[in-house]
Amino acid sequence: MAYEAKWADDPSKLNKTELLKLEKDGLDIIRTIIEKYANEGYESIPEDELLRFKWAGVYEQKPKDGHFMMRVRINSGIMTTDQVRALSSIAHDYGRDLVDVTTRQAIQFHWLKVEHLPDIFKRLEDVGLYSFEACGDCPRTIVGNPLAGIDPNELIDTTDIVNEVNDFFLMNRDFSNLPRKYKMSISSNIYNTAHAQINCLAFTPATKVIDGEEVIGFHVWVGGGLSAKPFLAQQLDIFVRPEEVLKISEAITIIYRDNGFRAKRHQSRIKFLVADWGVDKFREELVKQYGELPTRGEDKTQAWNAAYFDGVHPQKQKGYNFVGLNLPVGRLNAQEFTELARLADEYGDGTLRSTMAQNLIITGVKDEKVEGLLQEKVLERLTPNPKRFMSRTVSCTGNEFCNLAIVETKQRAVDVAEYLDEHIEMEEPVRIHFIGCPNSCGQKHIADIGLQGSLVKTPEGMVDAFDLAVGGTLDGAGEFNQKLKGRVKGDNVAPVLEKLIQFYNDNRSEEETFHQY
Ligand code: SF4
Repeated sequence: MAYEAKWADDPSKLNKTELLKLEKDGLDIIRTIIEKYANEGYESIPEDELLRFKWAGVYEQKPKDGHFMMRVRINSGIMTTDQVRALSSIAHDYGRDLVDVTTRQAIQFHWLKVEHLPDIFKRLEDVGLYSFEACGDCPRTIVGNPLAGIDPNELIDTTDIVNEVNDFFLMNRDFSNLPRKYKMSISSNIYNTAHAQINCLAFTPATKVIDGEEVIGFHVWVGGGLSAKPFLAQQLDIFVRPEEVLKISEAITIIYRDNGFRAKRHQSRIKFLVADWGVDKFREELVKQYGELPTRGEDKTQAWNAAYFDGVHPQKQKGYNFVGLNLPVGRLNAQEFTELARLADEYGDGTLRSTMAQNLIITGVKDEKVEGLLQEKVLERLTPNPKRFMSRTVSCTGNEFCNLAIVETKQRAVDVAEYLDEHIEMEEPVRIHFIGCPNSCGQKHIADIGLQGSLVKTPEGMVDAFDLAVGGTLDGAGEFNQKLKGRVKGDNVAPVLEKLIQFYNDNRSEEETFHQY
């Protein structure tokens, strides 16, 4: 540790997890897993050490019977087909064929055992991928523009910037003990495709005239995050050149590391520090840490596309296209993933890209190859032309695997989307997000209709239920959806949503839209 951990001076002000982190750095667990627990087995792992597994990107799965879930970081969601094949092989050999695309463009496995982990870490490393720090109190997967480099709607290609920032923070022991999880977003897409305002730190496209010349760069947002107490990030009054993104990220992360709250775990995210200080004080601290910075320039974000790309679209390279596919609630199997890798090689440029709406994109498809690609069998299910509701339904993991979940989400989300597609004729897409607990991994707060799992008492006992909220958006400064009164039993969600959407259809004014982008 090359810095002074000032917060360690008074352990009485630290929560239990902080004390654990002082005892042993989270990153140390990776070596211990490889050298000890993988050999000695699940039963040999003490409770404290299981908490540290997060730094390896690994969580215990529900029920706690020796199976784990793992998240793999995918910078900006961009994967080569070699990486996709390695990921598929892990799902096939160890993860019962299951692959989930998360709302942070990561790839998630289930059913892993501790004895599998050394081989999985190696297979990932061999293709330049890591699960390390995909979870834990550290900088996690950096989300970005999945179309970086091919996007007609980006100011600059952010691929290298995201990779540079990722490489700096990954396994960097100066930043492996932050007060809590830390999420970054870097995109130059003018439709806010990396959901800037729900990140701890975000960079969005901007320009500024400096010394008579227009410079392309970024505006910077801090203090966003969801969970039980959600905050939208706020913009700092600064303009950042592309070559400064890394140093600004480092400076802001140092401010958070050294000043973030460590007494109560539920108040430790950077959003609470920003809310406490305000953005002006935060800027002052940044200038102390980094040096003088130009004030804000011209914001270039025009609207929000909610990270949806389904269908065939032209790239900025003439004669080439990207094809956005729908993965119902972000789930596919290893065989389908391998097959998509084949298609990306045969028809495209050898990459697949994951989106924050839990979908995948095949890129670099020449005009004359589009028709052939669209005839491929695997695209019957993972289709570029999904039905209205299925195309816009997102779900977190839920109680199938997640220990924090109150209710089942993924299968229910599929059932609800299928029901709505059968019962409602509607041109306009409505984004529906399911989450199984207040942590909001399924980003319920930004949905047109957000459903949060809970329980309700009935004569037959406690049953799954959902709180409903409507009207979320990340257009402009963003606005979280508003909770409706009452709670809906899990079995009634589909007919209740049908009535709600039908009511909107029957009563909406001409210019009104359900979605706000
Ligand atoms: Fe688990 Fe809750 Fe996150 Fe869903 S929102 S994956 S239930 S922690």
